[in-house]
Amino acid sequence: MNLAYPGHILQVRAPAINFYVLRDQEELYLIDAGFIGGLRLMQRALVRRNWNQFPIRGIIVTHGHLDHILNVKTIARRYGAWIAAPRLDAEQYAGRSNYPGQARVAQWLETFGRPLLGFQRFTPDRLLDDGDMLDVWQGLQAVHLPGHTAGHLGLYSPERRLLFSGDLFVSYRGAARLPPDIFNSDPPQIPTSVAAALRLQLDGVLPNHCDPSPPAEHLRRLRLLGAKLASSPSRD
Ligand SMILES: [Zn+2]
Repeated sequence: MNLAYPGHILQVRAPAINFYVLRDQEELYLIDAGFIGGLRLMQRALVRRNWNQFPIRGIIVTHGHLDHILNVKTIARRYGAWIAAPRLDAEQYAGRSNYPGQARVAQWLETFGRPLLGFQRFTPDRLLDDGDMLDVWQGLQAVHLPGHTAGHLGLYSPERRLLFSGDLFVSYRGAARLPPDIFNSDPPQIPTSVAAALRLQLDGVLPNHCDPSPPAEHLRRLRLLGAKLASSPSRD
């Protein structure tokens, strides 16, 4: 199977953050919904791929950070799509964040960013917990990978051996790194979540903050990061 962006995945690229459109038969599903300009970038990418004829049925959220959920409500309303999102980040969908420690910086950024960027609150149609299955791609499984936020989760396709890994790690210039701690609610949990992700049967991972390398390359980088974290479990 050629994993260099397989035909049923569209990566919508933006300078700060990417998100994904999945095709399932004649229907589309989003993994996250992007940040500033995300809607326009998605529409352009759909036209280029000739997917603009297909309806967007659902939006699946990996976690409650503003750069992943800014456009959720707008897109859901415009396309009549359902929203599924991690239960433990529900405060953020309601426009509130309460992050501890260094992540208070992220909290300030979101508090100022929401009104500035016109964030619209939303109530998910479905709240996701670890192990929940979504009826997309013959089963897309929610895998709780906390640390970045309390509810942060990956979406795993056992059929395609792919993990949409949200912000578990970032992947640029040949290497996987952990997100900066000002964005992580509980950094000590992250190595455990990386190890949990790497126990899945995988041929590729698809992060939200990454260069355009294929999923297999991001997996190779994540494995190196996982080995590094395992050999120094207390990072300080
Ligand atoms: Zn994030």
